[in-house]
Amino acid sequence: MFEIKKYPDKILRRKCKPVEKITPKEAKLFKDMLGLMLNSSGIGLAAPQLGINLRMIVADIGASPVFLANPQVVKAQGNAKMEEGCLSVPQVTVVINRPDKITVQGLDENNQLIEIQAHGLLARVILHEIDHLNGKLILDYMSFLQRLRSKLRCSKKS
Ligand code: ZN
Repeated sequence: MFEIKKYPDKILRRKCKPVEKITPKEAKLFKDMLGLMLNSSGIGLAAPQLGINLRMIVADIGASPVFLANPQVVKAQGNAKMEEGCLSVPQVTVVINRPDKITVQGLDENNQLIEIQAHGLLARVILHEIDHLNGKLILDYMSFLQRLRSKLRCSKKS
């Protein structure tokens, strides 16, 4: 079974490879990702978080699941600040400024090229997961001082 890779696992820092085609194998991986995400009470997950070096993400903020391979943001508007956490970086939250409204293209679970318009939380989740495909984590948005504070918090706990 899959498990969620945690920081500082090196797989989380790699740039992921594009998916050539969504075959039944990749479609199953999408479903496995969604299952693991829901089990972990997450609202988004990227393949590298399972140790898989492919550009595949899932997101579900409660409406219906979004499956995207090779996601590409073709339009981004506005911006909003919100606190984010990450299943791969437990116990850390960071306030991140991101576009508020996006148009994103990619392959769905049926290998169809789709375009999704997302705003608010869904836009944020999709952008967070795309960061994972580029080896970027919420920690990268922290200032030096924030990093230091969270390190102190972590070391106090252990
Ligand atoms: Zn994450």
